[in-house]
Amino acid sequence: MAGIPLVDLRAQHRQVADDVARGFARVLDSGCFILGPEVEAFEASFARFSDVRHCVGVANGTDALEIALRAAGIGQGDEVIVPVNSFIATALAVARAGAVPVLVDCDPDHLLIDVAQVRRKIGPRTRAVVPVHLYGQMAPMEELASLGLVLVEDAAQAQGATRRGRGPAAVAVAAATSFYPGKNLGAYGDAGALLTNDEAVARRARALRNYGSEAKYVHPETGFNSRLDPLQAVVLSAKLAHLARWNAERRDAARRYDALLAGVPGVVLPATLPGNEAVWHLYVVQVPRRDDVLAKLRAAGIEAGVHYPTPIHLQGAFRALGHRPGDFPVAEAAAARVLSLPIHPGITPAQQERVADALRTAIG
Ligand SMILES: *Cc1c(COP(=O)(O)O)cnc(C)c1O
Repeated sequence: MAGIPLVDLRAQHRQVADDVARGFARVLDSGCFILGPEVEAFEASFARFSDVRHCVGVANGTDALEIALRAAGIGQGDEVIVPVNSFIATALAVARAGAVPVLVDCDPDHLLIDVAQVRRKIGPRTRAVVPVHLYGQMAPMEELASLGLVLVEDAAQAQGATRRGRGPAAVAVAAATSFYPGKNLGAYGDAGALLTNDEAVARRARALRNYGSEAKYVHPETGFNSRLDPLQAVVLSAKLAHLARWNAERRDAARRYDALLAGVPGVVLPATLPGNEAVWHLYVVQVPRRDDVLAKLRAAGIEAGVHYPTPIHLQGAFRALGHRPGDFPVAEAAAARVLSLPIHPGITPAQQERVADALRTAIG
């Protein structure tokens, strides 16, 4: 029997292959290989899709976060609050911007940033928070907004997600996203973008991605070389036309898993925060003896994943922050129990039934 992949990028490609081929031909024919009309067209359509005024395309999601922080005025000497249960890039961007990540735990039900703990960690140097819209649902932005800090969202997993009808960058000064191939909207290589309604932040981000320059050979600050590639912009424009439907297919698949797995002893299903419309980047259950269950699923040809096995405070990269096991018990317990089941647009009910059966058997 064929295996069931965690994501299926080839199936996605088949739906956009003609548009991508035509777009690549257009770029090759134009001789315009840095920024230009394809990048501008994608930025305009992604801004429209996100209901945000400005989109600035950059080279990847990590850069998008760092540029968003810097464009929002965050840097040396600032403390920025970051949840420990995220991909390492969230904290890397803060550190690379010259600021100090101050880590907080997550809430046990949704594994989103724990706002009560954010409140307790605010000190004289605290300038910003980077909430992460983990697994495809938004963090409680209105509660975070009431804290009076700069908010820069990590929306890498939340393209198209909304909370009370509003998406990333509605409340925060900026949101950063990633078009890593496996994301809901994925490129054919690295790509990213930031979203903002603030004209000045957008302008500064455009300069930062381009060597810190608005006029050729004039560099008032130390910028990056981090531009969205026009060939990736072609791919992203082609895929964006399908994203709403793909997200709806993910939603249907999530509901199907909810029904298939309801009442399986030992399996904790993902919970959605009231007010959220999630886009199900990942469908994450919690199980006992996770590594054993994962090995059994893999032996049955089911490509499950773990997001993430090690919380940020226990990574060597942030050793200097001085944390120890036990500092963030909710995230540490979750890290030992989370299991991402295959979910992607086009996953079939029969495939999901196989996953559910294999999970039931693996748990025993
Ligand atoms: C993918 C991801 C990133 C980083 O994006 P890259 O494009 O790989 O740099 C950052 N944060 C989260 C939560 C992600 O899932």
